Amino acid sequence: MLSIQRLIEDIHSQLKPEFGSGKVADYIPELAKVDPHKFGIAVETIDGASFFVGDAEDAFSIQSISKVFGLTLALGKHGDALWRRVGREPSGGSFNSIVQLESENGVPRNPFINAGAIVISDAILAGHRPREAIGQILRFVRYVAEDEAIVVDAAVARSEQRTGFRNMALANYMKSFGNLAHDAELTLGVYFHQCAIAMTCRQLAKAGLFLANGGRMRSGHSIIPRERARRICALMLTCGHYDASGDFAFRVGLPAKSGVGGGILAVAPGLASIAVWSPGLDRHGNSQLGTRALQALAERAGWSIFD
Ligand code: GLU
Repeated sequence: MLSIQRLIEDIHSQLKPEFGSGKVADYIPELAKVDPHKFGIAVETIDGASFFVGDAEDAFSIQSISKVFGLTLALGKHGDALWRRVGREPSGGSFNSIVQLESENGVPRNPFINAGAIVISDAILAGHRPREAIGQILRFVRYVAEDEAIVVDAAVARSEQRTGFRNMALANYMKSFGNLAHDAELTLGVYFHQCAIAMTCRQLAKAGLFLANGGRMRSGHSIIPRERARRICALMLTCGHYDASGDFAFRVGLPAKSGVGGGILAVAPGLASIAVWSPGLDRHGNSQLGTRALQALAERAGWSIFD
C-alpha cells in the first residue's frame, strides 16, 4: 500500500493555504466559538495501522456523525421494525427540512436527516430514562472507539437545547402523526446530547472501523452482522451528506457521514476508516475542506467502492 502517512501529510500541506475557508456553523452558538483554521485527518486500517496528521488529537463536536452510532444501536434494539418509523431514501432536502414530513405522514425519509435521527433517539429511549439512553449511546461509542475518555460536551448540548427551535418543531410535528413515543422534550434531550459527543479524528476513525470491517472490531469481536454493516454503509453513501449526498458519492466514492461540527467519517470497506475535521462548511452544511481532503485521499489511495 502506498504510504498513507505521506499521503495525508501531502494533503495537509496542499490544503494549508485554505485552512479557515467555508463557514463555521453558528446556528448552535457554542459551535461558532470553534477555531475555523483547525484541520485534522486520521486513518485506521483494518490490518492494524494508524495514521494521523494536523489537529487529529483535538476533540470536536461530532454532531450528525453520531447518527451513525445511534442508528447502529437502535437497529440492535428494534431490528427491522425500525423501518416502519423511518425510511431509507435520500431526502434531496436540507438536514433540518420539515417539508416532506407533511405529505409523508410524519415518517422521515432516512435516519440521517434531523427528523429521522430524532425518531431514532426516540427508539433508543424506549424503556429508559433520558439519562440512561444517553449513557447507552456514550458507552457504545466508547466501546467501539476503545476509549473511555470520550464525553458529551455539556455546553454544546445546552446551547442546542436553548436554540434548537427547528428540531423542536420537527419533533412536535412527528408527534402529531404518532411517530414519537415520548414527549418531544425528552426525545430531544437524548438527541441533543448524542450530537454533542466530542471526539478527536483519531477516536472517530477507530470508532468507525467496525463498519469497514464487516461489523467486527479489529479484535474480531462482532458488533453487528456483516449484512447490517453493509446496509448502514449503503445509507451513509446515499444519505450521509444531506442534499449533497449524490455529489459526495460522485467525488469521493465512499460511504460517509458528515456533521455540522465540520467532521466527516468515511468508510473504505475491507480497508480502512477515515475521519477528517475542518470546521468551515459549504452551503449544504458539509465540511468544505474535509470533503476535498477525502476526495484527494480516495483518489490517490485508489479507495472506492466502485472498483
Ligand atoms: N445537532 C445538529 C442539529 O440538529 C446536527 C446537524 C448536523 O450535524 O448536520 O441541527
